[in-house]
Amino acid sequence: MDSFYHSTRSLLEPVTSKQAILAGIAPDGGLYVSDGVLASPLDLEPLWAGDYPSRARRVLGHLLPDFTEQEVAGCVRRAYGDTFDDPAVTPVTPVGDDWLLELVHGPTSAFKDVALQMLPQLMGQARAGDGRDVMIVCATSGDTGKAALAGFADVEGCGVCVFYPDGKVSDVQHLQMATQAGGNVAVYAVRGNFDDAQGEVKRIFADRDLAVRLAGEGVFLSSANSINVGRLVPQVVYYLDAYAQLLERGAVAMGDEVDFYVPTGNFGDVLAGYYAKRLGLPVGRLHVCSNANDVLCDFLATGTYDRRRPFHKTISPSMDILVSSNLERLLYFASDGDCELVASLMADLAEKGAYTVPAPVMDAIRSTFSGGRATDDECRGTIRRTWERDGVLLDPHTAVAKTVLDAQEPQGRARVVLATASPYKFPAEVLAALGEDVAGLDGFAAMDRLAALTGTEPPAPLSALRDRAVRFTEVVDRDAMGAAVERAAGAVFPAGA
Ligand SMILES: *Cc1c(COP(=O)(O)O)cnc(C)c1O
Repeated sequence: MDSFYHSTRSLLEPVTSKQAILAGIAPDGGLYVSDGVLASPLDLEPLWAGDYPSRARRVLGHLLPDFTEQEVAGCVRRAYGDTFDDPAVTPVTPVGDDWLLELVHGPTSAFKDVALQMLPQLMGQARAGDGRDVMIVCATSGDTGKAALAGFADVEGCGVCVFYPDGKVSDVQHLQMATQAGGNVAVYAVRGNFDDAQGEVKRIFADRDLAVRLAGEGVFLSSANSINVGRLVPQVVYYLDAYAQLLERGAVAMGDEVDFYVPTGNFGDVLAGYYAKRLGLPVGRLHVCSNANDVLCDFLATGTYDRRRPFHKTISPSMDILVSSNLERLLYFASDGDCELVASLMADLAEKGAYTVPAPVMDAIRSTFSGGRATDDECRGTIRRTWERDGVLLDPHTAVAKTVLDAQEPQGRARVVLATASPYKFPAEVLAALGEDVAGLDGFAAMDRLAALTGTEPPAPLSALRDRAVRFTEVVDRDAMGAAVERAAGAVFPAGA
């Protein structure tokens, strides 16, 4: 079995999974993939009897073959030992005749915790053999930044520097980041929008002079972006774990296929479901669920990915994305590893803003993936209906997937909606969907009103925010972000320390 990782765009320069995790992206701009680990099916039998940590140990051990069993076990214990507020970590609960896979029980109440509690542990382990310090640089539209801060805070040998667009994240998201504890974290607001911040972060990663100066201090930059294998791999676990929970509940019999409905932005979450299927899990269809930024739905329908379209601001902002980076990995696998094809499609995307995938590759993709879309208004209706009919409160992202599910006739297979954020991260939107007047309510007043109205409870870390001191208030211009990274690195890793 070839257990090495290489770029989606070339077979040259194979690396270990540890090297792939430290690097984030391959030198040629491709994403790291491994042919061997997905080609050799995982023995699933031992998974069914275990619990989340034991399943995580098996799946991670299989997908990251150069980590020792002890290393994986340590990472799993630190990532999931006591950081999630549900003993099942990612519990499956009923919603009507269907199921909700709750990925929202981590420290920041968004599904990104599942991966971002693990990535720092994997990076910490990988860099143990490397000796250098890692500075994580991250642009965020809200959820990723906080999840990265929470994951990397006080992890040995790692620092984290987060940029968010000033005034363009929710009250709750802003406070989550500005109050972050830890001696190795830095948070800056940037004048501009998310794309400005993200564009400058990409430039910072490509800045040779900066890299050389930091290398002189024993520091290198890396990313916590969802293209990192260390973020993708932990997400495979909960698909298998969900199946185990459905077996335990008697909702499926061994071997029955299950359909998953996944609120999608960067295509990381739903791609993890494809990995689970490749490992042998009986996955029926994977539903790629989009908001008004429905570039993936159009792609699945036409075979052409075209980013030249207006960007829509929606009530599910973490899915407001025009370039779904992780799709590149699916193109690689669906074309049976045709690096040349992937490289040329990605060149088309960079040069023309669009690419067209050959029909046989689209057939392979469509044999597993379906697209579905939901407008903001449809999502508001879904939030209200699901609350009134089923007593389940959904956030606006999860509502996208639930809307897609509700529009379809059941096919006799169990259906699972991935719940990706707590409704309390977006309390004003959820209240409005329930028909409440939210004019003049700030984030905390909206949380209180939502709790009073529904009799549900906000996650403790969110309600505790109002008592926490704001640590970070600095606003920088886009062209000052590089200097901010250098200052943060200097503060986290003082020379000679
Ligand atoms: C990031 C995010 C998504 C999209 O996940 P991808 O892996 O980028 O497709 C969906 N919902 C929420 C709440 C998110 O934070």
